Amino acid sequence: MTPRDGNRPGTSFSDNYLWLVHDEESGGTAVVDPGDAAPVLAEAERRGWTISEVWNTHWHGDHTGGNLAIKSATGARISGPLAENIPGRDVALCEGSEVRLGKHVGRVIEVPGHTLGHIAILFDEERVAFVGDTLFAMGCGRLFEGTPEQMYRSLQRLAGLPADTRLYCAHEYTLANGRFAATVEPGNQAIADRLSNVRHLRDAGRSTVPTTVGEERETNPFVRSTNVEEFARRRAEKDSFG
Ligand SMILES: [Zn+2]
Repeated sequence: MTPRDGNRPGTSFSDNYLWLVHDEESGGTAVVDPGDAAPVLAEAERRGWTISEVWNTHWHGDHTGGNLAIKSATGARISGPLAENIPGRDVALCEGSEVRLGKHVGRVIEVPGHTLGHIAILFDEERVAFVGDTLFAMGCGRLFEGTPEQMYRSLQRLAGLPADTRLYCAHEYTLANGRFAATVEPGNQAIADRLSNVRHLRDAGRSTVPTTVGEERETNPFVRSTNVEEFARRRAEKDSFG
């Protein structure tokens, strides 16, 4: 199972990751959070893959905008959160649901906060998780619908996965997140080192995603908040930090 960024130059979004997941054995291909159809259809075709599954983590347009066009082009099945309005949804997902790609099984958990019905999809055996806009490298999603309590718990659940789990988030926000993290914990050497590395990667036009659970435990000030109040204060500070 190999996740690849399907968001090629020419897309309408500059910082969204649209993950294509391909299973060699069964030939199945999933796309996670296709905000736009054209770039993922083009990338799948370039690789000789046909998209058979669409998995949405939440309803926002930059995650679901390509659903219907992908479905009409490929007949893909669309799976998304039960509690949200998902264009073209065939399968409603909630806590404990499963998605499959060949023999790979993804376990659904509910991670409310950014939106109320937001889900994450965890491939435990493969140590891969698709986390949408809940956890970003060195950051987390804004609280558009949920409460700090909900988001804090959601982040703690993701941070409780095995340390080598690769987290595929939906945006390239790491540089801005890292700058903020360095102001929250100025004495944290792991944050300083990672920020320096992220600057080099971004200067070279390279991606900083996926991240890992282990890296986030060391460098993510939201994951590292010791209680809800501290988390809520940091989230409010980040909203005005930019
Ligand atoms: Zn969103």
